Amino acid sequence: MRIFFFIAALFATSSSHADWHYDKQAIMGTEVHLQFWVDDDSRAPVISHAVMDEFRRIDAALSPYKEDSELSRVNREAGKGAVKISQELADIIQKSLYYSDKTGGAFDITFATLGSLYDFRKGQKADQKITDELLPAVNFRHVELDSKQQTLVFRDPRTKIDLGGIAKGYSVDRAVSILQSFGVQNASVSAGGDARLLGDKRGKPWLIGIRHPRDRSKNAAVIPLENTAISTSGDYERFFIDDDDHRVHHIFNPATGQPTETDTGDTGSDQDKLISVSIIGPQGFDTDPLSTSVFVLGKQRGLALIEQLHNFEAIVIDANHRMFFSSGLQQ
Ligand code: ADP
Ligand code: MG
Repeated sequence: MRIFFFIAALFATSSSHADWHYDKQAIMGTEVHLQFWVDDDSRAPVISHAVMDEFRRIDAALSPYKEDSELSRVNREAGKGAVKISQELADIIQKSLYYSDKTGGAFDITFATLGSLYDFRKGQKADQKITDELLPAVNFRHVELDSKQQTLVFRDPRTKIDLGGIAKGYSVDRAVSILQSFGVQNASVSAGGDARLLGDKRGKPWLIGIRHPRDRSKNAAVIPLENTAISTSGDYERFFIDDDDHRVHHIFNPATGQPTETDTGDTGSDQDKLISVSIIGPQGFDTDPLSTSVFVLGKQRGLALIEQLHNFEAIVIDANHRMFFSSGLQQ
């Protein structure tokens, strides 16, 4: 009798049941978080693996830190002549150029011409001389993409590109497509500041925290969301404070070739400076470049851009730590 119960209990634990599944891995220089609901939890490891593999695949192709990535190859060769590129890279560059156009160059993947000389962990930046010298090579118009031939050429041989302002948003979208292909209907995927939510949290909304830009232990806001993407750009993720007490961070103003001014001073224009930008919209492929763009554009021009677009909302925090919302969030 006792043996029978033991066997029954074994069957009960090995048979599948529905549950939430969690995974967290360090990829793309950040933490990838995954949470999803599966009706048959024995399938969870396979699903989770497929999603994390996709992040790793994209990282291997687009990382500027991996010498054998497609991006690194392009940065070595496209200044010398047209290079053949993958359809995926062509699509991401095309989207980037679309946002360069829409933002008057605030979003510009050629920021990397100077950005690649910065090392935030080592506290290293480009000096004024090299900045002045290379600034003309920072210009999205140097990037010539032939979508039909699938080729890329940089018109200035010094130009370099980096897709750090769009790749994570693209990746969370890809992750959601993979989850959907497995029949998953409720999930949350995030890579650093870019998150995509599939469905709701089974009867309640997902609660997404926007971090306080000057206090890591606090949220500045918590927002209920479902079936959407949200991307946050801030000057507090990757930065160091230089000898002049300047915050040297990772979001560049392509017009100056330097990190976007965010420090609080005593001038009126500080009201326009932003230190945190969150954009809500259908896909990470758009919310990610838009959060970077609005950050560079500043409060007035940034919010005006979001008001122009359908399906997008913004939550911004200015240099005086005041929070503002686009009109669709104000009720
Ligand atoms: P995070 O990487 O923390 O999610 P963002 O989405 O704002 O933050 O992306 C910042 C990244 O975008 C930088 O690390 C850099 O790779 C890239 N980037 C910085 N400035 C620009 C810019 N003006 N246009 C396009 N990409 C940029
Ligand atoms: Mg972004």
